[in-house]
Amino acid sequence: MSTPFPTDEPLICSAKGCHAPATWELRWNNPRLHDPDRRKTWLACPAHRETLGDFLDARGFLRAVVPLAGSPTLEA
Ligand SMILES: [Zn+2]
Repeated sequence: MSTPFPTDEPLICSAKGCHAPATWELRWNNPRLHDPDRRKTWLACPAHRETLGDFLDARGFLRAVVPLAGSPTLEA
């Protein structure tokens, strides 16, 4: 049992130029680069969850979108 992220650092959205706290975790895999079981993770704020998800989904990379565990309140 290990956490992929340090718990004492804020988790920030992976979208370029965005510094909002992330509330979603997008798990993806590029079959051309990664083993089938491998999962890359992007973090997304509410505003970018769809943008990043669409980006990955359009390429067939998106595997799962899950709420970020332990994220602060979802209120804006
Ligand atoms: Zn964002």
